[in-house]
Amino acid sequence: MGDSEMTSWNGEPECTLCDSPNVIWNTTNGALCEIHYNMSQRNKMIYIAGPISNGHKANPREMYKKVKAGIKLYMQLIEKGYSPICPHFSYYAWLDYPRDIDWQTWLDMDFEYVRDSTFFFYMKPSKYGESKGALREYKYAKSLGKTIYTDINKVPTLKRISHALH
Ligand SMILES: [Zn+2]
Repeated sequence: MGDSEMTSWNGEPECTLCDSPNVIWNTTNGALCEIHYNMSQRNKMIYIAGPISNGHKANPREMYKKVKAGIKLYMQLIEKGYSPICPHFSYYAWLDYPRDIDWQTWLDMDFEYVRDSTFFFYMKPSKYGESKGALREYKYAKSLGKTIYTDINKVPTLKRISHALH
C-alpha cells in the first residue's frame, strides 16, 4: 500500500460536523459541507512537486518533458476541483529572462507554497524521475501533516465553489 492509498478519501458521505449529505470537501481527516468548509477557512490549493531541471543538469529535451508532465497534472487537478500551484510554469519565465535565479531562491519560494497549501501532490520518482528539491518538499509536506497524493487517479474530486463577489 502506497501513500496515495493511505491518504485517499474513504467515502464518508456526510459532513463530519453536521451530518449534511451535501459534502463539497473530503479528505482522510473528514468531510465538510459548504457552510462548514467556509467556516474552516481551508483552501483547495495543491502544490505539485516534481522534477524540472534537476539543478540545471537535465538536457533541454528532458527538461521540456518534465515541465509538460507537471502542467498536465495542473490541468487534471483543476478538473478535479483544486487550485493547483505548479512550479513547472517557472520554466517559461526563466527561459525568457536575461538572468538566472539561484536554486536556493526557488526552493525557498516553493517551501512557502507548500506551507500554505492544504494538499500536496508528489510526482513519484519511479514515474517522473528523481528530484532532490521535490523530495525535500515532500518531507516538509509530511512534517506539516499535509494531505499527500502520489497518483492522479486516486485524488478525490472536490466540488468547485466560488469565493468571488458577484
Ligand atoms: Zn456541515
